[in-house]
Amino acid sequence: MTPGFTRTLCAAVAAATVWATAATAAECPRKDALGTSRVLRVDAATSPRVGLKSFPQTLPLQDHEVVLTFDDGPWPGTTPQVLAALARECVLATFFLIGRSASAHPELVRRIAALGHTVGHHTWSHPNIKHMKPDAAVADIDKGFAAVEKALHGTATTTPGIASATPTTPFFRYPYFEMTPATLDLLQNRGITVFGADLWASDWEPMKPAQQLKLLTERLQAARKGIILLHDPKAQTAAMLPAFLRYLRDNGYRVVHIVPAAAAATARAVQNPK
Ligand SMILES: [Zn+2]
Repeated sequence: MTPGFTRTLCAAVAAATVWATAATAAECPRKDALGTSRVLRVDAATSPRVGLKSFPQTLPLQDHEVVLTFDDGPWPGTTPQVLAALARECVLATFFLIGRSASAHPELVRRIAALGHTVGHHTWSHPNIKHMKPDAAVADIDKGFAAVEKALHGTATTTPGIASATPTTPFFRYPYFEMTPATLDLLQNRGITVFGADLWASDWEPMKPAQQLKLLTERLQAARKGIILLHDPKAQTAAMLPAFLRYLRDNGYRVVHIVPAAAAATARAVQNPK
């Protein structure tokens, strides 16, 4: 993808200001690496809910563009292996972290962020929100935000229980894609984008890495693009990932890195409240 990067760069700059460019792809030391083709800024105002698994709309991806997302980390047993595979191909992804895991492994949370990946949120304890009382559901979501923020910044930059609380990166995914209208409204009011997915590897089901690769690539051939859901704590996924990234490179797919539309402004406002 490196030879195409300059063209992608020019096209992105010319096409729209909402497309930032991916410096990491240009700096990739491996000439034949997959690379990150562009950065897509996601604004909750225009994209409050994305992913065809749960919603009628998804991200504005072009044919053969994919967004890589990993849920349920960080997990010291496998997340470093996933990070190494991504780094080898100069690919940036999004990690939807579980709050209690982030609390247990804050150094790994900071490492994910330091490598340039986007850190999203996935509750504190990974419950099925649908089966919880409304207050408990909101409390688990907020505790998750606070735990990840604390791991990243050393302090909880959100205020759990306060309706306006928004994490630095306002990206959230429900465990099991199970949601309630009340929490969906709450997240939307806070300016937090809810991510579903467009396709997935079904890596919660035990299978050999080769089987998982076949399943995922067949699904991608059918979908042609989309937000892909994977789980970095799964050893079978960590084992499969290098081959999957090579598949993407060899078959003309391009990786899009998603970031919040107002990340810098939000972070400054949170750190220096007026
Ligand atoms: Zn999950």
